[in-house]
Amino acid sequence: MKLHEAEARELLRRAGLPVPDGEVATTPAAARATAERLFASGAKQVVIKAQVLVGGRGKAGGVKLAATAEEAEKIAAQILALTIKDLPVRRVLVAPAAEILREIYLSALIDRSSRGILLMASAAGGMEIEEVAAKDPTAIIRENAHPHAGLLPFQARRLGLRIGARGDLLKQFVAIATGLVRVARESDADLVEVNPLAVVPAPELPGGERLVCLDAKVTIDDSALERHPELEAWRDEDSEDPIDREAREMGIAYIRLDGSIGCMVNGAGLAMTTLDLVTRAGGTPANFLDIGGGARADKVAAAMRIILADKGVKAILVNIFGGITRGDEVARGLIEARGQQERTVPMVVRIVGTNAKEAAELLTAGGFATATSLDEAAEKAVALAAGGAQ
Ligand code: GDP
Ligand code: MN
Repeated sequence: MKLHEAEARELLRRAGLPVPDGEVATTPAAARATAERLFASGAKQVVIKAQVLVGGRGKAGGVKLAATAEEAEKIAAQILALTIKDLPVRRVLVAPAAEILREIYLSALIDRSSRGILLMASAAGGMEIEEVAAKDPTAIIRENAHPHAGLLPFQARRLGLRIGARGDLLKQFVAIATGLVRVARESDADLVEVNPLAVVPAPELPGGERLVCLDAKVTIDDSALERHPELEAWRDEDSEDPIDREAREMGIAYIRLDGSIGCMVNGAGLAMTTLDLVTRAGGTPANFLDIGGGARADKVAAAMRIILADKGVKAILVNIFGGITRGDEVARGLIEARGQQERTVPMVVRIVGTNAKEAAELLTAGGFATATSLDEAAEKAVALAAGGAQ
């Protein structure tokens, strides 16, 4: 689950990290009221930021500065009318603008290859990290946090030194880097990214410079949300893809891919195998979809709706190994789903295990193409997606 910037900032703020003040507004008038308050408490400029769950808002015109409350209201109206990468802007964050001297990139993320948290930093902040990686991979510095102790102080210092932080600024950097790892661990986040981590003037400090988190991007591991009701409460259902939402609500594990063969499978391992076999047969899977154990007809029908919502799907492969799941129940779900479907795509069904015989009878009577072995099913699905005969 992705958090909006405003909520991600709040999470960092609670962890003691330096985050500027700010408030979310849903109308231009509310944005103006917040801007008035910020100007009254000493801000010289305010920044209005679109709250949508994508990066690159700056380039899309979703981040703008205002020097007066009237201007803030006008800009908020403009930004609230924007659609950024298909996402309508419904809220803006109004915050005091920082005077940026330099921009740093810093993130803590789950790194599967090291089975731990990886810290990435770059002196080339502001740009999206993928862009930095493509242009100059050596500009990205990495440190693997200790699996139990988190980011150790010497690691944080090494990271800071390599991106050019010295003296008091290095001290601040160490606190922020360790803080990000702490947030990632305590919130079960896959990613905690601050870009830019801005260097701003601070005449009161020994080095004359201060670090502030000007943007925050946090993704929480969905499987861990049960442990974090306070974070779950921040879920923004309006920004969620309706298909992903239906899958989540039905308890279906669904990941969209970009191929043409929709796969409906029970069990994660079997789903992975199915994707492999489709690929080996020369096809491209359109999704990973696990209906789980003991799925009833309604869940099968929901899974079918989810698969068909993807217009790239040209054929469907149903691969069910009946254990707790009953084959005839799945067959009934498929028949029921077909009656409700808005569009038809060719389908091949393989159901083995519990009640496979009853399933086969129902499917044959219903005119479904069936297969016994998984290889055969995959090959048939690939042929169907290519427009071949069954
Ligand atoms: P993103 O484009 O979605 O990553 O949104 P960001 O919050 O990172 O903002 C994009 C860019 O806008 C930043 O890299 C900054 O250059 C600029 N920006 C954001 N906040 C401020 C601010 O408070 N003051 C100034 N001067 N620029 C800002
Ligand atoms: Mn950013």
